[in-house]
Amino acid sequence: MNQLNAPPSPTNKIHYVSDIHKLARLSPEERTRLEQVAKRYAFRANDYYLSLINWDDPNDPIRRLIVPRMDELEDWGSLDASNEAANTVLPGVQHKYARTVLLLCSEVCGGYCRYCFRKRLFIHENREATSNVSEGIRYIAQHPEVTNVLLTGGDPLLLSTDRLAKILAALRAIPHVRIIRIGSKMPAFNPWRILNDSALLEILSRYSEPRRRIYLMAHFDHVRELTDPAVEAIDACIRAGVICVNQCPIIRGVNDDPVVLGDLFRQLSFIGCPPYYCFQGRPTAGNRPYCVPIVRGWEIFQKALRRGSGLARRPRFIMSHATGKIEIAGVDHRYIYLRYQCAKDPNEQGSLKIFKRDDKACWLDDLTPVSDLGLDDSRVYPALLSTPSEGAPGTSLEPTEDLSDR
Ligand code: SF4
Repeated sequence: MNQLNAPPSPTNKIHYVSDIHKLARLSPEERTRLEQVAKRYAFRANDYYLSLINWDDPNDPIRRLIVPRMDELEDWGSLDASNEAANTVLPGVQHKYARTVLLLCSEVCGGYCRYCFRKRLFIHENREATSNVSEGIRYIAQHPEVTNVLLTGGDPLLLSTDRLAKILAALRAIPHVRIIRIGSKMPAFNPWRILNDSALLEILSRYSEPRRRIYLMAHFDHVRELTDPAVEAIDACIRAGVICVNQCPIIRGVNDDPVVLGDLFRQLSFIGCPPYYCFQGRPTAGNRPYCVPIVRGWEIFQKALRRGSGLARRPRFIMSHATGKIEIAGVDHRYIYLRYQCAKDPNEQGSLKIFKRDDKACWLDDLTPVSDLGLDDSRVYPALLSTPSEGAPGTSLEPTEDLSDR
């Protein structure tokens, strides 16, 4: 049996594993039990990433992030918790906010995060992602309002460099596309995908232009993923002219601790990959064991922010809901305050919503709006309802500038 525990040499090829029985550090009984979980929600890892696990610690955060758990079988949530199907305009193309189009160009990742909100892509019969993005490119070319394109999936860096080069070239040929984002966890899962491919770095450099940048939307969840090779991979991207930022959810047992999350934010700011969004975990099927309630997440997030300097304090705590990107803007002893940072309905852009505090709620749909309690918003929190000149800066309920491409 292949012993998937020793760190690979950087010059060696990374070995991927999708058979839970190859995890030699699990007991045979554990492997047999977890097989049923892996059959429902695919398992995938590689020898490098598995080498980061401290197998003597049953609560090791990296283990929790990548090794299936029996409680994933608990009946909870849905496979498409944000109803991405409603934004799908063509196979592999999502268009929810006017200025941003998502191309789901890969249906595989360097590992499968157990808490993934797109785990449906890795289920056998799913055909949502497509590496043939020609129709998507045509669609973008016909929509001059689209300034941002996000390559996602799955992980776009699992595509061959040739394939990626063709996609980047096609997007750069569209004058109105300014920002190309690449959503990738490869710096964490397999930094040598970047470090050992000079052709990849060359195309990133070619297509990340001074006035039209490529952004790497990196995905580190825990400071232990910031190994030397991972930091070198980020450095290589920065040297190629790519702007790096990080986004991650708050995950129970992985980073749901202000010290852990704050340390992650700080270290990310040090390496030039500052935190951008921090997400409330979506109620995705199989994700119950990784869910942190909104109020607790907000408290962790606030305390984590206090641990770093300005660049480590930049992220927003966001719920990616079917109706838009909603910032969790505040919590007090009675209420939860949410603000639409991007709204599917443009009339909701920037609007503030107030809900009864519920410490168990994990998602917008679990919350009760104050209007349902027979209360008037203005009696609940007058400061948040005044105009910016009268009240706290940036707290107006009035729809503000269109932020839909942020
Ligand atoms: S890298 Fe992203 S898309 Fe891939 S499994 Fe992890 S969360 Fe899901």
